[in-house]
Amino acid sequence: MALINCEECGREVSSRAIACPACGCPIAAEQQPEVAESVAEESQTAKPKPQPTVTEKFMDAIGYQPPKPGPERSTTGSVFMGLVHFFITLPICVVLFIWLFLAMSH
Ligand SMILES: [Zn+2]
Repeated sequence: MALINCEECGREVSSRAIACPACGCPIAAEQQPEVAESVAEESQTAKPKPQPTVTEKFMDAIGYQPPKPGPERSTTGSVFMGLVHFFITLPICVVLFIWLFLAMSH
């Protein structure tokens, strides 16, 4: 860790600082592109797209956007998700049951 002079205001700033605390001029922009690039590459290549489940396909079909998991995830969202799962699973079970019943009675 070294002190360098800010390009904008000339103050001494830690070379590890992201930006000059005095003027906000980005300091590490020239030193950290490698890190930023490797992180971006990892996020692009290392994660293959997961296969969507039946529920996700259905929600995609009806245009429902599931709330993205994050620190501000609300309980309302998970309750709503539970209801969505319930109302998706229940008709499928009912339809399957009726279909099986009709198939058996023939
Ligand atoms: Zn500065």
